[in-house]
Amino acid sequence: MKRRIAIFGSTGSIGTQTIEVIAQHPEMFSLEILSAHSNADALIEQAQKYKPNIVIITDETKYEKVNHALAADHIKVFAGEKSLVEIAASDSYDILLTAIVGYAGLLPTLAALEQGKTVALANKETLVVAGDIVTAVAAKNNALIIPVDSEHSAIFQCLEGEKHNVVEKVILTASGGPFLGKKPNYLINVKKDHALQHPNWTMGAKISIDSASLMNKGLEMIEAKWLFGLQNEQIEVVVHPQSIIHSMVQFEDGSIKSQMGLPDMKLPIQYALAYPQRIKNDYKRLQFKNYPSLTFEAADVKTFRNLALAKEAMFKGGNAPCVLNAANEIVVDAFIRNKIGFLEMSDIIETCLTKMNFIETPTLNDYIETNRETRLYAAGLIK
Ligand code: NAD
Ligand code: MG
Repeated sequence: MKRRIAIFGSTGSIGTQTIEVIAQHPEMFSLEILSAHSNADALIEQAQKYKPNIVIITDETKYEKVNHALAADHIKVFAGEKSLVEIAASDSYDILLTAIVGYAGLLPTLAALEQGKTVALANKETLVVAGDIVTAVAAKNNALIIPVDSEHSAIFQCLEGEKHNVVEKVILTASGGPFLGKKPNYLINVKKDHALQHPNWTMGAKISIDSASLMNKGLEMIEAKWLFGLQNEQIEVVVHPQSIIHSMVQFEDGSIKSQMGLPDMKLPIQYALAYPQRIKNDYKRLQFKNYPSLTFEAADVKTFRNLALAKEAMFKGGNAPCVLNAANEIVVDAFIRNKIGFLEMSDIIETCLTKMNFIETPTLNDYIETNRETRLYAAGLIK
């Protein structure tokens, strides 16, 4: 039986790489569902080439265009955010790969987990916003969440065969991004074009900015906490500029396991879709002689305050990570539109964390409201 795959966010960086992985293994996977937000042309092109059964365009103004273009191929076309939730809850697929960026991934992911579906999770914001609820829903419905984020895939792989052993800590590696070693007097003037140039990975705009500001690593600490049921104190970050060690697990005997490889997201994507199997591919192999030194250093959280703010939100718990995420989505968007400077992003996030109402044990509705209110508040701080 082939695994029937749904990709939400198929036109993005992770989405297109997932299509490549699936196309390379037609004996194992069939592509059933694609979704995109507003890039109708890219979605139409993907659908005409790969012939899924269903496509969803969340921007409803593009529905007519997509529906018209795909009518001859007998592909069912749906529109709007509600359709993502409805299709996620349907029987039309086996594994949902969530490659949507941001908070928008939350409700569709929950809908899939409620049906006991396997979720290959790239959309880390879902766990940052409501990790307690998301993991509880998964546990209740025996639904598996397999990480796609490379660090978390590394940890997941290190934990295979170790179910009965005690983890002392996990060590997330961070490349340091394009501004590694820079100080505030430099960062104050950087513009989006520079911030978007990641040294080791090619990714969507939002995660590229998050990587430059180290917010990405903060979001990943929170993601790790929920994925692996860790205490806050068990999660460490180390800067490793070569991005060869994707992350590590230290067990209670002091032994450390790491997962290594060239930086290529197709590997964790393939691992998540084929799990628990490893399948053969022809991706470029790591040659140690090309990496004579793998280096490690502490993260500079005084300069890259977003990492400190994320850590603070993680320790505070409740709806604080949801506030952090919502404020971050607003400031990243504003930075990309040249409305605010690089360092102002942290100022606004910090203000939101202090000003928004703290809720210790939020319901799903509290998270939805916290997200909405924080976005409004953060947007109000941007002239
Ligand atoms: P991207 O911007 O390239 O693509 C985002 C996709 O989501 C697009 O298909 C877009 O149409 C869709 N989308 C955007 N807004 C939406 C909305 N409001 N509703 C529904 N769909 C929407 O992003 P990406 O780099 O592929 O990242 C996707 C997710 O994967 C993010 O959460 C990111 O943090 C995570 N991730 C990405 C990488 C990477 O290498 N790109 C690595 C690890 C984790
Ligand atoms: Mg990552």
